[in-house]
Amino acid sequence: MKVYKFGGTSVGTAERFRALIPLIDDETEKIVVLSAMAGTTNALAEMSALFSDGNKGEARKKCEAMRKEYHAVADALFSSETWTLKAHDLADEHFGYIDSLFSREYSRHNEKRILARGELLSTAFLHFLLSEIGIPSVLVPALNFMRIDKDGEPDYFYIRENLKRELAAVNEEKIIITQGYICRNVFGETDNLRRGGSDFSATIIGAATGAEEVQIWTDISGIHNNDPRYVENTRVIRNLSFDEAAELAYFGAKILHPSSIHPARMKNIPVRLKNTMHPSDEGTLIKSASTLEDYKAVAAKDGIIVLRVRSDRMLLAYGFMRKIFEVFEAFKTPIDMITTSEVSVSLTIDDATYLDDIVKSLSSIGIVEVEKEQTIICVVGDFRPGRVGSAPEIFEALNEIPVKMISYGGSENSVSILVNTRDKIIALRSLSAKLFPEE
Ligand code: ASP
Ligand code: MG
Repeated sequence: MKVYKFGGTSVGTAERFRALIPLIDDETEKIVVLSAMAGTTNALAEMSALFSDGNKGEARKKCEAMRKEYHAVADALFSSETWTLKAHDLADEHFGYIDSLFSREYSRHNEKRILARGELLSTAFLHFLLSEIGIPSVLVPALNFMRIDKDGEPDYFYIRENLKRELAAVNEEKIIITQGYICRNVFGETDNLRRGGSDFSATIIGAATGAEEVQIWTDISGIHNNDPRYVENTRVIRNLSFDEAAELAYFGAKILHPSSIHPARMKNIPVRLKNTMHPSDEGTLIKSASTLEDYKAVAAKDGIIVLRVRSDRMLLAYGFMRKIFEVFEAFKTPIDMITTSEVSVSLTIDDATYLDDIVKSLSSIGIVEVEKEQTIICVVGDFRPGRVGSAPEIFEALNEIPVKMISYGGSENSVSILVNTRDKIIALRSLSAKLFPEE
């Protein structure tokens, strides 16, 4: 069994939907996990925002416009009247349901019910399309097996047992279709795995079924060794380890949801990144071990805030770090990078929700400085301890740029450097020129 996940652009138009058929119609048994059509989840989120602001009139207008758009997609997608009408009815049902929610009070739960419509529609459309052509497939609702626990983490036991039951009921069909992103929470309510969560759904399903492989199909041919938006002549990386991929997914390589590495690593299931526009491209293969190279990739993450805490009382004192960390814990804010000296600590965060409270609390410990508009540049490569000479090129490449923080030694496969966001592009280009000279 394999798991194939197709993102929003891979089901973005009637034409893209049809392009999936040759990719899934073969002898391999597979679970096809779909995102909503590109733009749908954003539109549903906008609708929910209008709803929560009490602007129900606008929300209803948007809903009606979307219903019409889905009718138009159906008109372009299906050839027969039967399937076109079925698709119209389904769109009417889902958008009618959203409209009926608008008559009630706004709640987070109603918002989640709205957000779930995109995946419910895309999966049904694919199932209808295959049915119209005569290719056998089954639609297994994610809400019958996908579930998060009270901490919002996948409930693997529940998922495995329920998916097993659902799959046992499948007859001969080789194509099993299900929704990415959506799930139930501990109360059994409709919930989701957060934005971009379909990748996570795919690897959770891969782990729960012990799949041979998880394929994530997008519109780029794998993870590049630098950001193609800013740097010319980037290359696709053929092999990555789970650890390397996790660092890159977190630090800016937008191609894969960062949480999605964990389930795959847990059950040692290879993840292959493929391109629906160029299916024969090899893509990137992520598995337990990879080929070690001095430097593999560079990625950047913007929107970083650095906090510096300075105190003479820190000198030779203990328990200082605990006090600092407790502040971040109290405000549920993860720390990304950290460097320390005898009298000061620098930490970075990317979530500014509780910044003011954090600064206030830290001020009782020492003098606090805050700097915004920072970027973490992460260089992935071979930085195993004991290796000599594995970083000088990095610093040589950056010798014209003010480096704000360096984190070396925390990970065997990455080095992180903090720079001002305005220096990011030049930093990425200089690193590329130095670390990946053209052959
Ligand atoms: N449709 C959801 C989103 O746009 C989930 C996904 O595409 O992965 O965030
Ligand atoms: Mg995505």
